[in-house]
Amino acid sequence: MSDGGRWQVIVVGGGPAGTSAAWHCAQAGLAVCLVDRARFPRNKPCAEYVSPEGSRILDRMGALSVLERGAATYLTGMVVHAPSGGRIHGEFVAQHGYRAFRDRGLGIRREYLDALLLSRAREAGVTVLEDTRVTQLLHDAHGAVNGVETLSPHGTQSLHAPLVIGADGLNSVVANRAGLAHRSRYPRRVAYVAHYRDVARMGTLGEMHVTTDGYVGLAQVGDGAGASLTNVALVIPTSSARTTRRSPEDTLTTWLSAHPQLAERFASAERVTPVRAVGPFASRARRAWAPGVMLTGDAADFLDPFTGEGIYAALAGGELLAPLAHAVVHATSADARQQTLASYERARQKTFGGKWRLERLIALAVAWPPLLNHAARVLSRDRDLADLLIGATGDFVPPSAVLTPRTLLRFLS
Ligand SMILES: Cc1cc2nc3c(=O)[nH]c(=O)nc-3n(C[C@H](O)[C@H](O)[C@H](O)COP(=O)(O)OP(=O)(O)OC[C@H]3O[C@@H](n4cnc5c(N)ncnc54)[C@H](O)[C@@H]3O)c2cc1C
Repeated sequence: MSDGGRWQVIVVGGGPAGTSAAWHCAQAGLAVCLVDRARFPRNKPCAEYVSPEGSRILDRMGALSVLERGAATYLTGMVVHAPSGGRIHGEFVAQHGYRAFRDRGLGIRREYLDALLLSRAREAGVTVLEDTRVTQLLHDAHGAVNGVETLSPHGTQSLHAPLVIGADGLNSVVANRAGLAHRSRYPRRVAYVAHYRDVARMGTLGEMHVTTDGYVGLAQVGDGAGASLTNVALVIPTSSARTTRRSPEDTLTTWLSAHPQLAERFASAERVTPVRAVGPFASRARRAWAPGVMLTGDAADFLDPFTGEGIYAALAGGELLAPLAHAVVHATSADARQQTLASYERARQKTFGGKWRLERLIALAVAWPPLLNHAARVLSRDRDLADLLIGATGDFVPPSAVLTPRTLLRFLS
């Protein structure tokens, strides 16, 4: 396996993208070392909803059964409240004929989910180094990346491998150092996330409340030990956060109390975790590879949390890249390695391209209230279309089923 800090694959980041990549590479027979700057369990600001199709990969990694035995809550669909007061309500089980691996989404604290996935990677044979931050990429004589330099409480260390997988999330050091990072200018948003107890009238639907000054998601999430809390995730434009200069706690409580339909539901609620801020987000790497490097998860692209698919994309990314990582590691020439890496870009486009287009349309509607109000008017009358859209955001209805001219015309009717 490893020989003096030499591996076949180094994965940077132990979130869903990194653990999935590491697990799938280990299953493909590769010697994998995963490095994370955090010590697990660690927190990650997120609305903590896993789409119904995400269960397929969780099952593959041996993590689903424990989640279904009471660690997670179930979500049966989504409801979006538009600024006008209109509602878009879609269920995962519907007439359209598409079925997910599971009929329900999951709500689960990231502290629990990510630690669970990391333990599955360890069990698959991955060597995990926690509390170890990657600071630099190392290069061979031809300029290809062939390792990382790390900093941990034990000092600095060099780890070598013919392939480094950057799964280190937003502001990825791997993407930055490989010259791949590209921050999108739009949409520029920040998020504030906390957990509450006793929010009134929480059910099995994930809720999105969109207003002219941002949106908030509410969902019941399991804490991993059989109890549930309400995850509250507020997303506002970076410009508003800069103007008000409030603390994260003040920003979240002031925003909730300024919206009467929500304030009333929080009247008897108690916040039980600190408010964690994250952002600005919206970034897409110029390309998801460089010689000796593959990017996956948020390190490769992240638009906006509205559709709640980042965890699925992170898990699916690992599944997609493992056979190509195997081919890169075993390539017999630099040319063959390069061609395999280039085919990774095409594979990502094929797998995620439709979803990226759909996400952009949804982001446009969220940012432009008249459009979302119109969509809510149409979709409140056309429940089949609402189910189809929610199924596409749930990763089991192909985006191409929504992006046909005929379906798009239904939105304009
Ligand atoms: C407000 C908000 C709400 C969201 N809600 C949802 C939702 O409900 N459902 C959903 O599916 N998605 C949601 N997302 C998106 C989702 O959180 C991400 O897409 C997902 O976490 C991506 O996983 P990842 O593994 O790529 O990155 P991360 O989960 O961020 O993991 C990256 C890991 O890399 C480590 N790392 C970073 N830098 C270094 C370094 N230099 N050295 C070593 N380790 C490093 C970090 O410690 C971390 O563990 C939300 C995002 C936001 C911001």
